[in-house]
Amino acid sequence: MKVPIVPYGAQILRKKGEAVVDFDDKLQKLADDMIETMHDADGIGLAAQQIGLALQFFVVDVQPGENESQDFKLELDGRPVPAKLVMPMVVANAKIELLDDEEWLCREGCLSFPGIRGEVVRCENIRMHFQDVAGTPHVLEATGMLARCCQHENDHCQGIVFVDRMEARDRLKNAVKLKILKRDTLKKEKLKRKG
Ligand SMILES: [Zn+2]
Repeated sequence: MKVPIVPYGAQILRKKGEAVVDFDDKLQKLADDMIETMHDADGIGLAAQQIGLALQFFVVDVQPGENESQDFKLELDGRPVPAKLVMPMVVANAKIELLDDEEWLCREGCLSFPGIRGEVVRCENIRMHFQDVAGTPHVLEATGMLARCCQHENDHCQGIVFVDRMEARDRLKNAVKLKILKRDTLKKEKLKRKG
């Protein structure tokens, strides 16, 4: 079932997620809803905060580009795996290690920030420890867009959004849009509270 995506300005986007402890049918249903919502919005990642839940939980669906070869590394539990086999991926309780200290600048967007894009520095090379929807622990090694997407979604789980890390000049360029988006969100939240 598709669910509404929380826009910038909502308090929940600033909440650090609780660890996932119950790997039950409810979690599977949540994962299914998040994947459907992400696909419907043409996104490549969605975190629990973006649908109103403060949890260490996100989904990603990063596929290779136009050319046949996979343009990012994906190793799951020590073995190279085609993205097709593991995407969409459900990630609980992620711990990300940055494997190099080079700054990789690239444009990003976010489903909670419609119409807003800007350059963000990330690490191009990560190792991520996490649990799948059944609670089974895994280690993912990833580069490129997959590494970037996991860092973006894991940030959401810590209450961090991509404009916090956006290059100053891009943030400035988006300042008016951000202000309007936040204002509209707060207005809607107020109306909702009034019932
Ligand atoms: Zn996002």
